[in-house]
Amino acid sequence: MQLLISFINYALNLIYPNVCGICNRLSKEDLCKKCEIRLNKIAKFKIDIYTDKYFRKHLYIFKYEGIIKEKLTDFKFNEKAYVYKGFVNFVLKNKKFCRFLKSYDIIIPVPIHKNRKLVRGYNQSSLIARELASSCNILYKNNILIKKINNKPQSTKNKEERIQNVIGAYVIQNKELILNKKVLILDDIYTTGSTLNECAKVLKMNGAKLVDVITIAKD
Ligand SMILES: [Zn+2]
Repeated sequence: MQLLISFINYALNLIYPNVCGICNRLSKEDLCKKCEIRLNKIAKFKIDIYTDKYFRKHLYIFKYEGIIKEKLTDFKFNEKAYVYKGFVNFVLKNKKFCRFLKSYDIIIPVPIHKNRKLVRGYNQSSLIARELASSCNILYKNNILIKKINNKPQSTKNKEERIQNVIGAYVIQNKELILNKKVLILDDIYTTGSTLNECAKVLKMNGAKLVDVITIAKD
């Protein structure tokens, strides 16, 4: 059995060799030293506070520009799922980060519609949220917040249209899991906050005690 597992790992490594999630060069780590230095120079780890939204805090790691914009676009639209590993690896090097995550009861990714998931093969926010949750030891659930309507991508809309576009798009299942809980929603990019605000709204309407949000980048 052990031999079989070793063989499978060996074969997988030939098909999917370990590369740095950012520069795509072969690397033992999911983030090479060069890219770590590069990301360190531009990382923000900033928290914005909102009083006019259903969520309160927004933590973002980077501004949505340059290499970050390029990599998040690859991650989302160019079927480069491995990119998330570089980001996750970088974020986890920040010692304060797990402490921040642990102040919540549960982490929930912004869902995509099942039809879009069939096309893309993965939900980019789930990959990141699941990995962060397991590394920082907090509860991760992707069966609570569900995308019911397959609306047009937010990236094709202006600010006003984005607000309208997401209304009623999300529903809650298994609501007992969020009752009186502190919930953290994760998305890849924050633009106008309409998607996250709509998600926070349905979570709060269904009993969440408080909702905050985290994104890799802020536009
Ligand atoms: Zn690299």
